[in-house]
Amino acid sequence: MKVVELNNALIEELNRMEAEALVAWAFNNFGARAAIGTSFQLTGSVIIELASRTSKDFRVFTIDTGRLHQETLDMVGKVEQRYGIKIERFTPDAEKVKDMVERFGEYLFFTDKAKQEYCCKVRKVEPNQRALASLDVWITGLRRDQSGYRQDVKKAEVVDQDGRKILKLAPLADWDMNRIDSFIEENDLPINELFGKGYDSIGCVICSTPLVAGEAPRSGRWRWQNSEDNKKECGIHISGNTRISGSVRISGSGNISGNLDISDKAGSSTLTHKPSKCSDDDADLESENEDG
Ligand code: SF4
Repeated sequence: MKVVELNNALIEELNRMEAEALVAWAFNNFGARAAIGTSFQLTGSVIIELASRTSKDFRVFTIDTGRLHQETLDMVGKVEQRYGIKIERFTPDAEKVKDMVERFGEYLFFTDKAKQEYCCKVRKVEPNQRALASLDVWITGLRRDQSGYRQDVKKAEVVDQDGRKILKLAPLADWDMNRIDSFIEENDLPINELFGKGYDSIGCVICSTPLVAGEAPRSGRWRWQNSEDNKKECGIHISGNTRISGSVRISGSGNISGNLDISDKAGSSTLTHKPSKCSDDDADLESENEDG
């Protein structure tokens, strides 16, 4: 099957399917042109198990940002061993990372949301785009109750990927945490050990932290932004391309000056860097929070 053959009636039918049937449909119809993208959240464990019931040789890919927790890296081996598969690892362009770190520092994500999104673009979004270039069906772990931004997530939709149409699936869109927890327990699935340490949503070291009682699921992501922004997305699940321009200068004392404009594809400015200061002291404090 080809993505262009997907008409509205079929998309509607896919949106009514149960998770296991939808995952099976994807691999049965697209084979190696379908793949599960996972960062080893709990939903990833569930979807990989569902896929294993259809195929013994299904594709799974992950983005290794270079800043992942050891517990997350450990999941690669655990999943590969259990299912007898080889997980594809996509990594950031080394030159782009080097350039970014030289210009803005290792901890640029503390400075403002524009630089956090720039870091995510270099370390996550661009490698993810390379992964998507190799497939027609992208199977994700998005769920509607994760955040307000995700409340309208569809189980199946055709999306634009660098000018090419691909089918994006979210088989667990209508699952809640109780159902996910039960499925994991019933099937004794491997999960990231960070879930036993208070984490609810896992990304990079420092940028994801454990929750305290009563906090919303994604509150632990970019915790220092909790009071100023509620979107909490790294950009992987936001459609459209981002253009970054401008110049920022960092002096020896850690002061940052200049402008960094991040615009959408149409050229309208969406974020502008405000000069501020990001010191190693800030980074060390957040590291301690992470470990604690
Ligand atoms: S989560 Fe943090 S370290 Fe990871 S890519 Fe995004 S800003 Fe960079």
